[in-house]
Amino acid sequence: MLPFLLIASALAADVPTLRLPEGVRPVNYTAELTLDPAKPTFTGKIDIEVYFPAPASVFYLNARELEISSANVGGAKLAVEQVNENFIALRSTSAIPAGPRQLHFEYSGKISPKSSEGIFMGKDGETSYLFTQFEEIDARRAFPCFDEPGFKNSWRLTLHVPASQKAFANTPQITEASEAGGMKKVVFAPTKPLPSYLIAFAVGPFDVVEAGKIGGTGAPVRIITPKGKASQAKYAADVTATILERLQSYFGIAYPYEKADAIAIPLTFGFGAMENAGLVTYAENILIADPATDTENRRREYASVGAHELAHQWFGDLVTLSWWDDTWLNEAFATWTSSKILAEWKPEWKTRLGDLSAKFGAMGEDSLVSTRKIRQEILTNDDISNAFDGITYEKGAAVIRMFEIWTGEKQFQRGVTSYLKLHANKNARMEDFLDSIGSGKPRLSEAFLTFLSQPGVPQISVSLDCKATPAVALRQKRYLPVGSKGSSAQTWKVPVCVRYRTDAGVQRECFLLDKESAEFKLTKATSCPTLIAANESASGYYIASYEGDLLDRMVAESQQFLNPAEQSTLLHDISALAGAGDLKIGRALDAAVKFANSPERQIVGQAEGIIGGVRSQIPASLLDNYGRFVAKTFGERARALGWSAKPGEDQETTLLRPNLVPFVARYDAPLAEEARKLAAQWIETRKGVDANMIGSVLSTAAYNGDRAYFDALLAALKKTEDKRQRSAIIRALGSFRAPELVQSALDLVIHSDIDTRETAGLLFAGTGNRATERMAFDFLKANYDEILKRAPSGGGSDFGAELPYVAGGFCSASQEKEYIDYFGERSKTFTGGPRVYEQVLESIRLCDAQRAAQGADAEAYFARQ
Ligand SMILES: [Zn+2]
Repeated sequence: MLPFLLIASALAADVPTLRLPEGVRPVNYTAELTLDPAKPTFTGKIDIEVYFPAPASVFYLNARELEISSANVGGAKLAVEQVNENFIALRSTSAIPAGPRQLHFEYSGKISPKSSEGIFMGKDGETSYLFTQFEEIDARRAFPCFDEPGFKNSWRLTLHVPASQKAFANTPQITEASEAGGMKKVVFAPTKPLPSYLIAFAVGPFDVVEAGKIGGTGAPVRIITPKGKASQAKYAADVTATILERLQSYFGIAYPYEKADAIAIPLTFGFGAMENAGLVTYAENILIADPATDTENRRREYASVGAHELAHQWFGDLVTLSWWDDTWLNEAFATWTSSKILAEWKPEWKTRLGDLSAKFGAMGEDSLVSTRKIRQEILTNDDISNAFDGITYEKGAAVIRMFEIWTGEKQFQRGVTSYLKLHANKNARMEDFLDSIGSGKPRLSEAFLTFLSQPGVPQISVSLDCKATPAVALRQKRYLPVGSKGSSAQTWKVPVCVRYRTDAGVQRECFLLDKESAEFKLTKATSCPTLIAANESASGYYIASYEGDLLDRMVAESQQFLNPAEQSTLLHDISALAGAGDLKIGRALDAAVKFANSPERQIVGQAEGIIGGVRSQIPASLLDNYGRFVAKTFGERARALGWSAKPGEDQETTLLRPNLVPFVARYDAPLAEEARKLAAQWIETRKGVDANMIGSVLSTAAYNGDRAYFDALLAALKKTEDKRQRSAIIRALGSFRAPELVQSALDLVIHSDIDTRETAGLLFAGTGNRATERMAFDFLKANYDEILKRAPSGGGSDFGAELPYVAGGFCSASQEKEYIDYFGERSKTFTGGPRVYEQVLESIRLCDAQRAAQGADAEAYFARQ
């Protein structure tokens, strides 16, 4: 018995669970699929040219939920065994000799009606369409294949589809021919080398909008919409070629593919857009909009998401990460490039201030002990799923920006171009990138690496030393919020740029803080500086803590001495330091008040965020005081803005309104009453409300709303197919306070025929509302199986993994225990679940600690209001 057991376990150990073992490798693919949007399954045939480096009688491929009816190598039959969820073993009766061979498979697979992964169905009204989403590891649901990013091959695709419909893929169509049974055969040109996760196709009765050609290459740009929605593609059609031309010019490399299609998916889950080479997919409400209800926010969102996805055509598609541990080489770079293109193309949008809020969000995530590193080892499929988070995208982009500024933008651009040229149509790793940008600058690579390979945010204390030559003294540690169990003893090699004011004017200098503490001479100072901005132009990824009376001086003169990005950073850092217990919460609130009337709407939003965040720390008896404080701080401006745009106002004002007015309306009865009237009118006539304000008006009315209004919203939902209107209505349905209406909104997740991709967010809508926040948790507990049965997945994320966020507002030891009891085991069963579980748990503990540390101060502060 013992030897048998040993053999069995040895075999089991050989079965892959994460990566394909060494051995056979793909050379190219020829696939033929029969797809009909009206059917729940599809059939396929695939020929894969492969190379066996050594003889083999067993080898593995990726395949998931495929029924393989026939498999052979060079005509000789292969036995197929699904060895686990993600892998099939293929066995030959005699050893397959080394050398080039051809694999052939015939199979069928599933078309998902509710998720956005593999091949899935999307419905626009009653019309069905098919789409694909293969990143990260779902190409294996469409083809047996080598489903890892390191394999870049040419793919030849042929689709058999209903004759009346259209089909699109990564490359242009080369032939089309009618077939029996009302079908047609569409053959696409072979692709350039692409990994499986970037293959895409779509089938359905689409409309196609021609959107010009890309300067230089002449590649056509098209916007592809559901039937009848071509008129909604106008903005995307106007700007997409421009974005591509700006990217070409920055990268110094022509757009690498034959065409640039953008296609709308009615509903997605787990992703908003996907950079498939030559065929970028977007959630419909990002790509297109009814011109009558389109908004400035939507147009900017498309420009930003579009620039991100199109930047991927170089960063990700042309040069692909070798493995998922370098997801940042895709995502951080696409995020950083999109920011760069937008800041240059639309300076009036002031996008750099928006980039800062994204950075601050990432810093919040990064202050957890359970955070990831930008470049995190991949040990399981959970790690692949978790790699698509704020750390990879936003911390990654902010860190790249910091080193770009430190290196010099032109020099950095040369490194980027040389990296892309060197690895075009191939794969690359972190080291390849650092070699390109750091050539001749070893300090740059070393410093960059300290941010890629360590978690956390540096906190740098800043003081001036003017005993001799004026100098700035810097000391670093890891930033940790009150209650954190982490260690602050950690250092980075941090580029620190400062600006200071002396008798002779304002000067700028940069240093590399490469140890725990150091003093740097201010070589351009003619006298002791009175002010020093420790994060010049906000390009650094760190929190600055000004020592002694320097902080007071900085706050007092912030509007004169600091530019808006630096003001935003100062406000953020003060709030973070209060979160660490280094400052009292009253200091952060005072700073928020000081910046509340900033001309920059992003800074106003930050001030709102600080004040809004404290609400849960004060007792119910002080909520009136809190309301008075909000009204005193923001009321005048909110009332002047009102709910409707004024003729001739600027876009910044238009964009401030939906942010500020609903926040204040919670504490301002006349504003709330006006929202109620406007909402009633809009529901009746679909008119009378500024398009930018529909969501805010409907949600504000719901905050104070009754059953009749709830029912009216629900009836309005049934009458519209417009995705943006639907999402505004559903958000409003999740905004009621009355417990019985909170319950009715939760019920929609399982007791309605609304697509779960639309209603899923209702489960998390009550987070932060103390009176009702545990209702969602109780609802989840009572209906767990039913929720999971309807739960969507997609884009590598599993809805089940996100369920712990239902307890995101928990804030006490007893709630912590309930959370652990309920989610401790359940979270482990979903891809990506364990890390979400840990992060929410840590947030609950930190909230409890924060309340203990700051609660009394917050109470005292509001008692005075
Ligand atoms: Zn991306």
